[in-house]
Amino acid sequence: PPTFDVEAIRRDFPILSQQVNGKPLVYLDNGASAQKPEAVLNAMDRYYREMHSNVHRGAHTLGDRATAAFEGARETVRRFLNAESTREIIWTRGTTEAINLVANGLAPRLKPGDEILVSHMEHHANIVPWQMIAERTGARVLPIQVTPDGELDLDSFHSLLNDRTRILALTHVSNVLGTVNPVAPLIEEAKKRGILTLIDGAQAVPHFQPDVRALDCDFYVFSSHKVFGPTGIGVLYGRAQLLEEMPPYQGGGEMIERVSFERTTWNVLPYKFEAGTPAIAEAVGLGAALDYLGGLDRAAVEAAENALLARANELVDSVPGMKIIGTAREKVPVMSFKIEGLHPSDIGTLLDQQGIAIRTGHHCAMPLMDFYGVPGTARASFAFYNTLEEVDRLFTGLQKIQRLFA
Ligand code: PMP
Repeated sequence: PPTFDVEAIRRDFPILSQQVNGKPLVYLDNGASAQKPEAVLNAMDRYYREMHSNVHRGAHTLGDRATAAFEGARETVRRFLNAESTREIIWTRGTTEAINLVANGLAPRLKPGDEILVSHMEHHANIVPWQMIAERTGARVLPIQVTPDGELDLDSFHSLLNDRTRILALTHVSNVLGTVNPVAPLIEEAKKRGILTLIDGAQAVPHFQPDVRALDCDFYVFSSHKVFGPTGIGVLYGRAQLLEEMPPYQGGGEMIERVSFERTTWNVLPYKFEAGTPAIAEAVGLGAALDYLGGLDRAAVEAAENALLARANELVDSVPGMKIIGTAREKVPVMSFKIEGLHPSDIGTLLDQQGIAIRTGHHCAMPLMDFYGVPGTARASFAFYNTLEEVDRLFTGLQKIQRLFA
């Protein structure tokens, strides 16, 4: 049977055991950024104390140690995603930079009238880079509709597909709704028609492990800071063949093979896309985060997360006027909601006074807010280190706010 001792897990995350506004912290803003286990803090500390130097210079021992740690982390990411080769793992600053890199790299393939499909539930990071490229190339960005429950409208997807469609850029999991999209059959459908596919895994990887070879997508992107690693680094997985064909994103050191005023040539993958000194300690930290996750019983983690969401769903009726936005059948533990008579930002502020951290606002998904006709939502997003008692405290807090202010 799966084993999961949440109290032991919580001891791995030092930031969680503190008081905020006189109350024990309840951190339910994991969708915005997750907390870091001691293993990550220690790996980064040890890196700076014992091995820091610039990488790939090969001049001395510290440089070799730093390079081994840095490239070791790349291998950890490769294994995590089940990519074929570390040549396909590019370090970026995060999901946002990874999508911008791909959009820029695919721009030379686009011509006026070409179509890029995204969905109505995308984060701005998977809309705006495509709009910028569309502006440059004359291509168009079209949204796949969502249903009132917050699922992808598959009829809309099929009706949008045509021989001008070039790219499908889709989120694996919605940061607002928690919906897990059925990306595999959509990728399969796209592939049959020669459409390139990018999956935004920013909200997926904190909850489950994707397999890029099983998905058969062309690109998969995520951010370290949402998967219990440090800020400032993220990952682009790309099919080697496509990465070979794409132009570099930024120019500078590291990404070149040879520079002269007559002719400059590019480095091999993955370095062609990694201009400048990289975020070395952060790569090491992300590697440690993925190793930490790998040491957990993932089935037990999933069961614990499902139990948190189920408890939250059970308690919704205990708050008069509370309504969930996003009731898809397949969800990660993310709960967007509104409460009649209360502005989302007031809900956030009043919960914070009770030591409870949630996120309020448009969540960088304004088109989705427009679809639901709301200026924003309140969002509680759970991680495996949250407890059922914390879910109860959230609802006790909401009941109190509703009684006093709605
Ligand atoms: N996509 C999704 C689905 C997200 O939730 C986020 C972060 N909220 C991003 C992209 C952007 O990630 P980052 O800010 O780390 O680049």
